[in-house]
Amino acid sequence: MANIVAIVGRPNVGKSTLFNRLTGQRHAIVDEVSGVTRDRLYGKSVWNGVEFSVVDTGGYAINSDDIFEESIRDQVTIAIEEADILLFLVDVTTGLTDYDEMLAEVIRRSNKPAFVVVNKVDTGERLPEAAYFYSLGFKELFTISSINGFGTGELMDAVVAALPEKEAGAIEEEQLPRFTIVGRPNAGKSSLLNALTGEERNIVTDIPGTTRDSIHTLYNKFGHRFLLVDTAGIRKKARVKEDLEFYSVMRAIRSIENSDVCILMVDATRGFEGQDQKIFGLVERNRKGIVVVVNKWDLIEKDSNSTKKFEAAIREQTAPYTDYPIIFTSVTNKQRIFKVVEEAMRVYENKTRKIPTSKLNEYFLPLIDATPPPATKGKYIKIKYISQLPTQPPSFAFFCNLPQYVKDPYKRFLENKLREKWDLSGVPVNIFMRKK
Ligand code: GDP
Ligand code: GDP
Repeated sequence: MANIVAIVGRPNVGKSTLFNRLTGQRHAIVDEVSGVTRDRLYGKSVWNGVEFSVVDTGGYAINSDDIFEESIRDQVTIAIEEADILLFLVDVTTGLTDYDEMLAEVIRRSNKPAFVVVNKVDTGERLPEAAYFYSLGFKELFTISSINGFGTGELMDAVVAALPEKEAGAIEEEQLPRFTIVGRPNAGKSSLLNALTGEERNIVTDIPGTTRDSIHTLYNKFGHRFLLVDTAGIRKKARVKEDLEFYSVMRAIRSIENSDVCILMVDATRGFEGQDQKIFGLVERNRKGIVVVVNKWDLIEKDSNSTKKFEAAIREQTAPYTDYPIIFTSVTNKQRIFKVVEEAMRVYENKTRKIPTSKLNEYFLPLIDATPPPATKGKYIKIKYISQLPTQPPSFAFFCNLPQYVKDPYKRFLENKLREKWDLSGVPVNIFMRKK
């Protein structure tokens, strides 16, 4: 189950700095056109063996010259709905501001677990000032310095302790493949869902605070049994502006984490663009299976090369990861919907594929003999044997004398060879070098 920790706070309090510290991402990428920091939205963190997602609510829709109360409210509303815990970040150097109080009000009304986190407490001298923030009326207050790390350990202890426990009842469902449909607004996600269901679904009543857990629906379609994971984000139309990029990405995160294979729907009339790429990246980083569905193909003027060209354009944008199925559909004309399910099943099988050790070694050892890893610093690297690890997605350990000297290009070479021999389409593969 996904656990999402959202960092909320007004601009400049240090959200992105804290985010980078928690997720180990050093460099946020600043989009030169808008001046808005991009790609700092989402990351993974592990503390005391507990994994959770961290979301920075700061990078979208807000930039420092142009702060609309409404857009902040939207952001916070979304974050609150989707998060399990809120870190309400404030800045000791500026003290309490009107914005902080406004945010406090919104957060309090949500009844979600929230910690006030006073940032920029770089030295003990600032501690007394931090205590003023108790007046915001929250029970828990932490003092940290995102820059030097002071206090972040205690904060993480508290976060992990407050995360919800794994649900017991979910276990038996886990045997069935779990698929989820993701994509930006208007790509045709709910149309596909309806086509699979065969009837118009009623809109789920929208009660704030009840959307935390995803809905699993069992399908028995085209001879396959699978679960469709929906965070209500597909059926339920957004209360906030539909085109808010942040919204669909935030929605996608939870359903991605709760599924085995993601069906990424792309609107053919718009092409594979930045947001598609972003969602693709989320799926890849989460090591989930993927099927790309180019929908509304009926609206495209086609020649004999159209699908090839479209495919190539998509793969170019996701390179070096290019081994996944792409299907062209028209959901409204019910074209190739069956194929979508077929391919999702195939990717699921690939994701759970087990390759016997003997087969791996038979195949790889002669190959490696013919094309060994290049010697580094005068040292020869000898790969002795290969075995698959018991985890998903397929992960392979190459045992050798000097694992640290094997570079990424060689690992990519091994991965490509693996994909040539076995069907691993649509699943990320992990290649590890291990000391032997
Ligand atoms: P955001 O707009 O909330 O994401 O804030 P940023 O993370 O971009 O930080 C705003 C400014 O505060 C930057 O100049 C950071 O270097 C600075 N900053 C962030 N955390 C700390 C901290 O713990 N101590 C100090 N002294 N500065 C910080
Ligand atoms: P969602 O926001 O991703 O759930 O997208 P919807 O399923 O609501 O679809 C958005 C719009 O695109 C609706 O008007 C659909 O009727 C239309 N649409 C969906 N699939 C197709 C398709 O294959 N062809 C055409 N022409 N329109 C489609």
